[in-house]
Amino acid sequence: MAMPKLAHTPAAQDKLRALGILALNGMFDEMDAVGVLRYAVSDVLPGDLAIVSSFGADSGVLLHLVAQVDPSMPVYFLETGKHFTETLDYVETLKKHLGLINVHAIHPSPEDVKRFDPAGTLWETDPDSCCHIRKTEPLEPITEQYGGWVTGRKRFQTKERGVLPHFELTSDDRIKVNPLAYFTDADVNQYKIDHGLPEHPLFAKGYKSIGCAPCTSVVAEGEDPRAGRWRGLNKKECGIHFDFNGAIASPMTAATKHTLWKDGAFIADPFHEWTEADEPATASYKHVPLPVFLANRDAFLATQHPLGLLVLPGDNVEQVEADLGRFVSVAIKFPAFSDGRGYSTARLLVERYNYANEVRAIGDVLQDQIPLMRRCGFNAFVVTHEPTREALIENRLPEVALFYQPVGVTEIPVGTRPFLRRVH
Ligand code: SF4
Repeated sequence: MAMPKLAHTPAAQDKLRALGILALNGMFDEMDAVGVLRYAVSDVLPGDLAIVSSFGADSGVLLHLVAQVDPSMPVYFLETGKHFTETLDYVETLKKHLGLINVHAIHPSPEDVKRFDPAGTLWETDPDSCCHIRKTEPLEPITEQYGGWVTGRKRFQTKERGVLPHFELTSDDRIKVNPLAYFTDADVNQYKIDHGLPEHPLFAKGYKSIGCAPCTSVVAEGEDPRAGRWRGLNKKECGIHFDFNGAIASPMTAATKHTLWKDGAFIADPFHEWTEADEPATASYKHVPLPVFLANRDAFLATQHPLGLLVLPGDNVEQVEADLGRFVSVAIKFPAFSDGRGYSTARLLVERYNYANEVRAIGDVLQDQIPLMRRCGFNAFVVTHEPTREALIENRLPEVALFYQPVGVTEIPVGTRPFLRRVH
């Protein structure tokens, strides 16, 4: 079946839509992985296709296909900083064996890691956020550069992947190519044997699907090969494959799910609510209610885990003045927008106690309050009110030029009316 040559332009995308992704998927035999990849490279997205590889147990198969079709295709490896050393060795082994000449490691932002995962244990408390800062965020600028990318996903791997086609059109008008969609576990193993591919050093030890070391475990005989990933957690994907026409994903949309607004953007929130089941000795990335902290002060001060403090209306932060350095975040609750006590608490922290870490507003946080809150020292906001979220995303916040009470040293009274102050 002859198909027109397509490029990654809006017109080409329209054409692709018109031809129908179904027609494209109908062009190839299920097992024609080379045919799928060759057509993608030469006709669908010439020069505009890249691959993200985990260099895991099965990665050699897809990379071998790439080496046959176009060894100069850009290959990106998410170097999360959490890989087994065996995986890092395997990257070098495969590069050399297959003659791949365009392999790049992508690293998480050091600022994000320092800010959200200073102890390196975020995978334990919040794996979604860990994957977000170590995989999704670093990948975003890369995916923006290409019209599509090649993946090694296969139908047999999980129930969620059971309907995976060769070609997907994503909701942000990119194409994902899955040459191995129909390969079974046995097909993959046979391919490795047939082509003499070097094995990942951990495969023989029972690791069937290999990702970051803390989130990968050995798989028992007969288990789903991906059962060893995030074992015991209700997590199957790292977030970079969700949402495609309702099934698989645009990594660019991930941030929009977050409710923590900080430094001008919605970002992953490493913190969780304190629960009665939490223990002072093991608590990490929890906003500890002030009375709970006071009752267990010694135990909390004895640990190194990142902690936050939760302040409710009526709580007295003076009681923890000496311990403020223990907290990387203070969350101040606004049970109702009309309750102004949180403003005074923030000013006490910032102006009197020189607290310089995160001061976040939680609860009833609305658009009109945010500029006022910022004046009082809040630098982070948990926003669930949808119109406020939209205003923040669209950078629409009301200007507050006039006010009645000056704050800090940057505001001075002007004019002849002493009760009217202006921001400078
Ligand atoms: S797989 Fe685990 S360690 Fe790796 S980024 Fe995700 S949560 Fe973090």
